[in-house]
Amino acid sequence: MTDSQKVIAIPYIPGDGIGPDIMSATRRVLDAAIRSATAGSVSFRWEELLAGEKAYRETGEWLPKATLEAIRERGVAIKGPLTTPVGGGIRSLNVAIRQSLELYASVRPSRHYSGVPSPVKEPGKLDVVIFRENTEDVYKGLEWKQGSKEALELITYLRSEMGVELSDDCGIGLKPISESATKRLVRAALEFAVRKKRRVVTIVHKGNIMKYTEGAFREWGYELAKEEFADRIVFESELRDKGLTTAPKDKILVNDRIADNMLQQVLTRPDEYSILVAPNLNGDYLADACAAQVGGLGFAPGANIGDGVAVFEPVHGTAPKYAGRNVANPCALILSGAMMLEYLGYNNASSIVEKAVEKALTDGVMTRDLAKLQGAQESVGTSEFADAIIDRMA
Ligand code: NAP
Repeated sequence: MTDSQKVIAIPYIPGDGIGPDIMSATRRVLDAAIRSATAGSVSFRWEELLAGEKAYRETGEWLPKATLEAIRERGVAIKGPLTTPVGGGIRSLNVAIRQSLELYASVRPSRHYSGVPSPVKEPGKLDVVIFRENTEDVYKGLEWKQGSKEALELITYLRSEMGVELSDDCGIGLKPISESATKRLVRAALEFAVRKKRRVVTIVHKGNIMKYTEGAFREWGYELAKEEFADRIVFESELRDKGLTTAPKDKILVNDRIADNMLQQVLTRPDEYSILVAPNLNGDYLADACAAQVGGLGFAPGANIGDGVAVFEPVHGTAPKYAGRNVANPCALILSGAMMLEYLGYNNASSIVEKAVEKALTDGVMTRDLAKLQGAQESVGTSEFADAIIDRMA
């Protein structure tokens, strides 16, 4: 190694089930991409962190504190999927990681890679990035079982203090949505739009029914856009007032859509949308619907981003029946890795990965899941798919 060589420490959690298979393929692809993009002057030092089944076997804890501390310290990590332990008081390790590190934006791009089968006629028309709020809404986990002391106390309070009539056999959940969490998410989405030269940011909400949570999300979203991005944006309502249908070229169009309408618009007019910002639950539905349109969860990368810390992970789970069999599709984790390269400032390496994945797919290189969908006889293993991607790096 020469003095001018830079080594970047990347913490990684292999994950459970197919996690170790796809993580080892991904690390090889990312190593090759950074080598190719920097002519060998930058490399990664991979640092394994424990979480999930392996952590439980070795330490008796599902998510050791040291893992969270290491991610916080390095500011970045990539992870495979983790089993959600059934029972034992752990809601979800993934949710625990996001909430402990305050990773408030779940960022999920959906775009089509040629060669990937899709259920729609023109999958190439969808190219959106969803910013989903990660810390509030019904995912906050504020819910109480039917008949529990807490549920009954809340029902009594609502009845006596607020005149709300609820039957005693209700389970109760709370849906908090705050101005501060909404505004930091919308800020992240608008900053991304500016950086990536994306032209439309759409606030997705169900404010017609839930006025003080989803409706407030919409209001605070517009407020933030006006307060911090006034010279770069134009509202759809302003265009309408002027009788215009398109935004000036140097402005980002900010509009809003009610969630149910949005779910049909991504199917009927996908090319009118670019960045979608949504509260937690609606964002969850929307992201999976968009992923399905461009080939399913096997191609759905994701990032969970906070202030100064980010964790990159595929959207799919551990697919335990394929664990250790070298058959899983590594694309979603590899593309999450491409997002991580861009986050680290290695845009060129990131685009090398994306292009090589696309080239492999258009050349008909497929893992078993894809071959099955295409009715193809031939398929390659996880590791051979990574080789095919590396072979196609310019
Ligand atoms: P899943 O693991 O995503 O698997 C469902 C099915 O999708 C699999 O049986 C498999 O398909 C297919 N699949 C998913 N990823 C694939 C890949 N990379 N390559 C090929 N096929 C793939 O969902 P699940 O069965 O609901 O969840 C299993 C476990 O994962 C649970 O413990 C869940 O909590 C956890 N989970 C973790 C995360 C995360 O860590 N972020 C996310 C979701 C779920 P076929 O059966 O169609 O062949």
